[in-house]
Amino acid sequence: MADQARIIDGKAAAAALRAEIGQEITAIKAERGLVPGLHVVLVGDDPASRVYVNSKEKLAGEIGMNSAVHRLPAETSEAELLAKVAALNADDSVDGILVQLPLPKHINPDRVIEAIDPAKDVDCFHPINVGRLANGQASLIPCTPLGSMILLKQTLPTLAGLEAVVIGRSGIVGRPMAQLLVQADCTVTIAHSRTRDLPAICRRADILVAAVGRPHFVRGDWIKPGATIIDVGINRLPDGKLAGDVDFAEAMKVAGAITPVPGGVGPMTIACLLRNTLTAFHARRGR
Ligand code: NAD
Repeated sequence: MADQARIIDGKAAAAALRAEIGQEITAIKAERGLVPGLHVVLVGDDPASRVYVNSKEKLAGEIGMNSAVHRLPAETSEAELLAKVAALNADDSVDGILVQLPLPKHINPDRVIEAIDPAKDVDCFHPINVGRLANGQASLIPCTPLGSMILLKQTLPTLAGLEAVVIGRSGIVGRPMAQLLVQADCTVTIAHSRTRDLPAICRRADILVAAVGRPHFVRGDWIKPGATIIDVGINRLPDGKLAGDVDFAEAMKVAGAITPVPGGVGPMTIACLLRNTLTAFHARRGR
């Protein structure tokens, strides 16, 4: 085994994926005169959300996708937001709708997500899409788990039979990630805040996915030598730098391969949002 883990370059993988989507969009424009459209709704001025939304808009534009950001004031009522979603549902030029979370406290996010047409739900948070994913019938797959699976498939010759441990059971990362790993024939354990002896469970993992939200939480001696680590965490340190959930320096000495933060799963998430928009376009308008 090498002394140092291989770094999984999510930035390069995401650029390649975007280029591929861009080529498909160019062909669609040339052959059919249509342009897939992604619409993002941002309510209020959460600084992190603003950064994410700007980057989604910029990257969509770069590959020739139509994109629009609907910026609504923080005082927008739930009824007004639902009316906005209904208008986007009804607009045939809109292929993907994403309502940026978190929403202001006076708005119920579940009600808003359930109002999005499931065929345009490119975040894949609508209960119908969550159910389809659980049944293994999904065409839209949540962006962060989808991006993580693409990186795993590019890193490992096969996933079948491998032990996978996912730390975190959130609806946007941990649970869908575990479902995709099961569908890829891994033996999957979901660990969470009430799990006993987490280090021992992690040491079993050929694939370890950390989606906790605590910097440097996973230590080097929790890692099975040669394991592949997908670090989903994005944590802002007091000095302003970003860190993942895994102690990267320690993991580098034990793991076989690891995603860095930044430059790992993050860029793949946005590329997969664009992928989902194109998938939604094909599903609605035919190939
Ligand atoms: P969340 O807060 O909804 O879930 C965190 C999970 O961690 C929970 O299920 C909880 O049970 C588990 N957990 C908390 N403390 C634990 C402990 N001591 N031991 C074991 N498990 C514990 O968070 P989330 O939305 O799933 O996001 C997780 C992290 O991933 C965050 O850092 C978030 O910023 C990041 N994230 C990154 C991307 C990306 O594109 N890279 C996308 C989404 C989320």
